[in-house]
Amino acid sequence: MREQLEKIKEEALKQIAASDALEKLNDIRVSYLGKKGELTNLLKGMKNVAPEERPKVGQMVNDARAVIEGKLEEAKTALAKKAREEQLKREVIDVTLPAKKNNVGHSHPNTIALEAVERIFVGMGYEVIEGPEIEYDEYNFTKLNIPPNHPAKDEQDTFYINKDIVLRTQTSPVQARTMEKGKLPIRMISPGRVFRSDEVDATHSPSFHQVEGLVIDKNITLADLKGTLAEFAKEMFGEDTKVKFRPHHFPFTEPSAEMDVSCFKCGGKGCRFCKGSGWIEILGCGMVHPHVLEMCGIDPDAYTGFAFGVGLERIALLKYEIDDMRLLYENDIRFLKQF
Ligand SMILES: [Zn+2]
Repeated sequence: MREQLEKIKEEALKQIAASDALEKLNDIRVSYLGKKGELTNLLKGMKNVAPEERPKVGQMVNDARAVIEGKLEEAKTALAKKAREEQLKREVIDVTLPAKKNNVGHSHPNTIALEAVERIFVGMGYEVIEGPEIEYDEYNFTKLNIPPNHPAKDEQDTFYINKDIVLRTQTSPVQARTMEKGKLPIRMISPGRVFRSDEVDATHSPSFHQVEGLVIDKNITLADLKGTLAEFAKEMFGEDTKVKFRPHHFPFTEPSAEMDVSCFKCGGKGCRFCKGSGWIEILGCGMVHPHVLEMCGIDPDAYTGFAFGVGLERIALLKYEIDDMRLLYENDIRFLKQF
């Protein structure tokens, strides 16, 4: 029995020394010290031991048990220490390494252009008012002096939802809605998305953005329009920017004009950017047609006003010298990262 005990002890210690994981140590504990373990089994053989020998043998078994337990505990502590050290080595932080660069998002060129336009007009005391993108035919056309048979209503230009509802082709219906509320005077700009059934090319898209402006008050004249828009051009394109108005026709203004700005690339001498003319077309404008005022419930004998509309993409393209509008919509990160 004594030899048997020695053998079990030796075998257990050998296994403990060879263990490299906590689970293995646990298995060893169960297989030697557990209820069905080898030491326990040995104790069951006590009945074959002479009674006077029993305390001595019992003591030996207990000693062996204590030794094995002590070694198990030691091995466990050593393993835990090793694991901790490895973890520390793995998780070491080298504070001298260069930092990882975070990718921070930023504004789209359209948004930058819109914010610039809004800042200029809000600075002049204008309100920013938005309206629905799906609009009644009546607001998109009729109330803006575009009667039922007007060519602008052609289905080739307009997305019709049904005969009364369209995707707005301009932001001007927001003006009609604001005038109808009857709160005067009005100084507003209305930015937003508009829709035309155009084919996509370098200068056209079925969906683009406009900023529309409207001023209604007593004694508003063409001089107010010119002064306001000249100031806008200077703030937008630089202090030396000159403006020029060419007669034009829009149904909802009379008289109507298109405004050009002096080329901010060549200063008006003529270059590739301005196609040699020295001028760049920038927006449409005019004095609000008395009929439009009347239709929106404003007395045209007491009030006058002016309106203008500028394409946001056009501003963005000019400002950043981009020659293809499609780039603005492709969401190509290599393009967008440049702004
Ligand atoms: Zn030029």
